[in-house]
Amino acid sequence: MTEKSGVLYVVATPMGNLGDITHRACRVLADVDLIACEDTRHSRVLLGHLGIDASLISYHEHNEAQMLPRLLGLLAEGKHIALISDAGTPLINDPGYVLVRAARERGLAVAPIPGPSAVTCALSAAGLPSDRFLFVGFPPRGEQARRTWLASLAREPGTLICYESGRRAAATLSDLADVLGPRRAVVARELTKRFETFLAADLPALAARVAEDAEQQLGELVILIEGDLRADAERDDEHQRTILRILAEELPLKQAVALTARITGGNRNRLYKEALTARDAGSDSE
Ligand code: SAM
Repeated sequence: MTEKSGVLYVVATPMGNLGDITHRACRVLADVDLIACEDTRHSRVLLGHLGIDASLISYHEHNEAQMLPRLLGLLAEGKHIALISDAGTPLINDPGYVLVRAARERGLAVAPIPGPSAVTCALSAAGLPSDRFLFVGFPPRGEQARRTWLASLAREPGTLICYESGRRAAATLSDLADVLGPRRAVVARELTKRFETFLAADLPALAARVAEDAEQQLGELVILIEGDLRADAERDDEHQRTILRILAEELPLKQAVALTARITGGNRNRLYKEALTARDAGSDSE
């Protein structure tokens, strides 16, 4: 792209408390030629509060593809555009990925203007391990799909973080308790707002607490769950045993062991000894 191309600014905005806007975000929002936002009425309230009279264009999940050529064309012409969402950081479970990717593919400049996001805000004050975490967006809505999805996350060692609406919180927490068991968890609700609440307990207690208290089912929330804290070595051993068991159902033991060692990098002799012990124990109990 030419020197004259505009910049796409990805600007984080408050998710409750209007004071949570950075000086840099205010400057960029005031200076750009156009602000692409999810809901123009919603964003006008924020911009009005900031004293910014900007041109707004609606850009949301249902018109992303349609708006793309127009926004890319404006950037190529040299217009500076700010992308904002209704709350928090764009692209974090909000529209924008398609636009940012397309802009980058065309060599257009994309600049992040960092600020609030519910995921980092909740993690920063939850008191759960924060050096490693996995953000998984919204859980599937159907119960069966949700439980399968949770089972696939059960061995994740980092803190698991998901978004949820208040009205689905009790059902999701109940499934979390069933699938993941009594792990420590935190529900962070209405962050930065008047009724901000952090509830911390093990999952079954948290599920019961939210189910019995209608107030805890209001508003927006983030659920954080301690990861599978078993040591990596223990998890790796279990992984190897699972692979070996599956392969040994289909192949001669030696071959199953050789393949398991290749797939997992495990020690072939140790795996073979363990497999023989397991097979002997199995035949003893028959
Ligand atoms: N882009 C946003 C961000 O950076 O966090 C997330 C948008 S996503 C569509 C909306 C979800 O984020 C809500 O359903 C809720 O789970 C979470 N969320 C947003 N604001 C929140 C708040 N003030 N307190 C707790 N959770 C919030």
